[in-house]
Amino acid sequence: MSAPAADSTATDPAYEQRLAAFVGTELQPPTPGPDPVNVPMIRHWVEAMELTNPVHLDADAARATGRADVVAPAAMVQAWVMRGYAATVRPTASAGRFQELVDLLAEGGYTSVVATDSDLEILRELVPGDRVSVEEVVEEIGPEKRTGLGVGRFVTTLKTYRDAEGEVVATQRWRTLRFRPQEKPAPAEPTAVRPRPAINRDNAFWFDAAREHRLVVQRCSDCGALRHPPGPMCPECRSLAWDTVTAGGEAVLYSWVVAHHPRHPAFESPYLVAVVELAEGTRLITNLVDLDAADLEVGMPLRLRWLDADPDLTLPVFGPADQED
Ligand SMILES: [Zn+2]
Repeated sequence: MSAPAADSTATDPAYEQRLAAFVGTELQPPTPGPDPVNVPMIRHWVEAMELTNPVHLDADAARATGRADVVAPAAMVQAWVMRGYAATVRPTASAGRFQELVDLLAEGGYTSVVATDSDLEILRELVPGDRVSVEEVVEEIGPEKRTGLGVGRFVTTLKTYRDAEGEVVATQRWRTLRFRPQEKPAPAEPTAVRPRPAINRDNAFWFDAAREHRLVVQRCSDCGALRHPPGPMCPECRSLAWDTVTAGGEAVLYSWVVAHHPRHPAFESPYLVAVVELAEGTRLITNLVDLDAADLEVGMPLRLRWLDADPDLTLPVFGPADQED
């Protein structure tokens, strides 16, 4: 057994009493399902679950087993009373009662939940046309226990499913562990490095030059056309011969975005991703530094800077033109 944590209210008799007051009370009053038991929903279930028993869709097969007609799969009972998406956009009063219990458990520090088991007892098979309703009561709130997940309490509720005549067709004991998550060690200093570019034989020269703080642009040896990003063939004349020119570092802002998501530990969010047009004429995707998004304007002059991200990676970035390195 456990020693309660120092901040626990678990040993507080008043708290125990408030928890105990929930036992036996109704979390959900009798609530009818939105639709009667019906063949289309049965068909979806049978297909999704890949059920092979023909008694759910084939009336002759069902009659051959002594049943009057097709029957719904027993495990579907919960499906007939689900409110689906509506529950998230129009919470019911009963959701409020459930929330009260969740809040009270959270007050005791039991902020996390994991379902442990669902014990479903079927008393009669449901057939198309049946109208199912469900009610839920709190059956038990256990004493505080230490579990592998942390210190917590097992909460058991009992759902009772009834038909239109009020006869019980199924019961479901639903047990969850509400627990206080174990303290996790503080995360270590981020050690992330910038994502690696995909370097290959066609573009390695460009990154090699960057490591030497030279921004180069590939040039066709035959027609002289400049191109970026690097590639093996000139898009103008299809020549495979090329060399490079070194860019002077002057550029203008062509376009940009402010990147908020997805976050990456190597980047300080938000950050600026831009397309800049070099004075030589080619464009380059890069980051902007020492600039605020609010001050950016298409066409504004920019000046090359170098980002030595880590020993293996140096990248050209651009800052204001009127500010020297
Ligand atoms: Zn060419």
